[in-house]
Amino acid sequence: FALDSNSVGNVKSFLTKNKPFPIRGERANFINIPHVVVMVGLPARGKTYMAKKLTRYLNWIGVKTRVFNVGEYRRRSTSLYTNHNFFRPDNAEAMCLRELCAMNALKDVCNWLNSGEGDVAVFDATNTTVERRRWIFNIVVRKLGFKLFYVESICNDQKIIESNIREVKLSSPDYVGVNPDEAIKDFIQRIEHYKDIYHPLDEEKEEHLSFMKIINTGEKVVVHKHEGHVQARIIYYLMNIRVMRRDIYLTSAGESQNDVLGKVGGNSSLSERGLDYAKALADYMKSQDIPRLRVWTSWMNRTVETAQFIERQKERWKCLDELDLVSYRFTRGESYEDLVARLEPVIMELERQENVLIIAHQAVLRCLLGYYLDVSSEKLPYIKVPPHTVLKLVPIAYGCEVEYIPLNVPAVDTYQERPSKYKSQTVEEPPAGVLDKESSSVESNHFQNGDTNANEETDK
Ligand code: ATP
Repeated sequence: FALDSNSVGNVKSFLTKNKPFPIRGERANFINIPHVVVMVGLPARGKTYMAKKLTRYLNWIGVKTRVFNVGEYRRRSTSLYTNHNFFRPDNAEAMCLRELCAMNALKDVCNWLNSGEGDVAVFDATNTTVERRRWIFNIVVRKLGFKLFYVESICNDQKIIESNIREVKLSSPDYVGVNPDEAIKDFIQRIEHYKDIYHPLDEEKEEHLSFMKIINTGEKVVVHKHEGHVQARIIYYLMNIRVMRRDIYLTSAGESQNDVLGKVGGNSSLSERGLDYAKALADYMKSQDIPRLRVWTSWMNRTVETAQFIERQKERWKCLDELDLVSYRFTRGESYEDLVARLEPVIMELERQENVLIIAHQAVLRCLLGYYLDVSSEKLPYIKVPPHTVLKLVPIAYGCEVEYIPLNVPAVDTYQERPSKYKSQTVEEPPAGVLDKESSSVESNHFQNGDTNANEETDK
């Protein structure tokens, strides 16, 4: 849109209107009130990273969540960005545009929650001033009656900031065709403009707000006046995530004797081909020479036996056991939802660990993959987990990449297709060849969730 004195006036009047949103919330006494989570912090402090990860986690545990990124609104509405001067606090025209973008994003947040479609909206912007946060509080809490929780990221380690800029900011549309060194300089100057007006969440001035501060990537965490179950889950999750380069390996147990007989469930030992896979797996893991690798199995014979040749300490987890098929009935048995609930401690521990190999079962691995690949709960049961294949999960900027490494030991494939009437919605499959159990190809295959390229600066 065009920016002139008129639109500046419009923004101001919109901001000062008494009732900028049509629907007034009457939710004061409800328990399950929609939440707005508001990110706070200077650029390149991991706000978008945390916003996206938190969203993935909440959706995985069944809380419908969506991110609203103000930077995206800015990029959709203007191509005005030429350099850091755009972010100067005295650049009135750009300031006005940025406020308008923040307003539009917040309006979308409120409309989405009011529509009943979502439980938690994450408002991803820098939100660095007390005034901005007061404005959000007035709309979200006073006018609409939603719950509000601020998450501030503070990081003063220049090395981390520079590595964040290199990892995610250089590929931003703002820097297409710009020399990387110039782009880094420009981004650092952009941060300086924000520093001029930045006021961290203030326990005295803003003592009525619920918030958490994550300092130096989780070295220290401060929690202030949090309320209720959803905020407790958010705090617990964000306290556990670590920022480090590591890989997670997943595989199902080798072929079992029951697989060969076509029997579902039970606790049988490995078949001969299953044992061959256990040996191939040990050779593969050895060849990767992974530092401090942890090996986790379920308590079932076939996973413990699959791990037996790996020369590392192994740990057994009861909650990695296969979905309880014996008692599995639609009314009383264990469902994928139950499985997600029982796997939550595994996810939490995985977030804290370095390199881990998990040897488990189809349904369990589907749930874990669902978390990493952001797969909706209806599609979870149909994710393909190829037999005798190692899945390597590699975290990338805002998502996760999966590499499928078949170890070329034949096996019975116990995968069950989704009923044909749902087929059009079948989850993205790994590339052709990965599922071919007799495949002689030793090449690995990739697919990924999330953006490798980060183009998601959160702006104001
Ligand atoms: P902007 O305001 O420009 O959008 P941002 O704060 O949203 O910046 P991100 O784009 O999320 O920053 O930065 C991602 C990088 O931040 C990743 O490299 C990630 O490893 C790193 N990161 C994640 N969490 C934190 C944290 N708590 N503190 C600092 N860096 C972090």
